[in-house]
Amino acid sequence: MSQWHPQPDQLVEFAAGTCHTGMSVAISVHLHYCTQCRTALSELESTSAVLFEQQSAVPVTDSAFEQLMQRIQREPEVEPVVEPVNNRFPKALSTLLPASLDDLDWRQPMKNLRVSHLMTDESGMIIGLHHMKAGARVPNHYHRGEEISVVLEGGFSDQLGSYGAGDFILRTPDDTHSPQTDAHEDCLMLSVVAAPVKLTGALGWLLNPFLKA
Ligand SMILES: [Zn+2]
Repeated sequence: MSQWHPQPDQLVEFAAGTCHTGMSVAISVHLHYCTQCRTALSELESTSAVLFEQQSAVPVTDSAFEQLMQRIQREPEVEPVVEPVNNRFPKALSTLLPASLDDLDWRQPMKNLRVSHLMTDESGMIIGLHHMKAGARVPNHYHRGEEISVVLEGGFSDQLGSYGAGDFILRTPDDTHSPQTDAHEDCLMLSVVAAPVKLTGALGWLLNPFLKA
């Protein structure tokens, strides 16, 4: 089960249909793996429907959301939606992909890292895939804007935690991190970034492949 989730306000915006495409794809992919957020979303959607019928806007507060999440966590876990095995990726992502990942235009900014640019959304967020070899480490870097990563396969860790399939990781311009892939498995991630990453070290230019995309 996912340990890292979208922020409450992000899920509220997703339910309201007001978030940009990059965020929407990232949350959709996370929801594929996360029973807890799927349940929270359906509760939010029911609430929205009722509010809409009443035509009176009531702000959804963080505390209301937290109470909801606590209630969900106490309830027995619902079985995840079972997808056909030939669907390797959640639909929100697979619609952006060719038949094979090999058909993507991969760039290789580092020996153990490949990146592919899928699309740029209406807000300028770049949606892409990152593929890191098992045991690879990306040099310490920060981001000029927000970076969202959702783990698709494998896992990695950084200074702030460890992440596996479905985990939704948000990094802000204040965060500096150096992700390291799990030792025995490659890691594939969905990546949504506001601007090309800027490395803090001398290898800065290496991780700016999107500038050339
Ligand atoms: Zn979740």
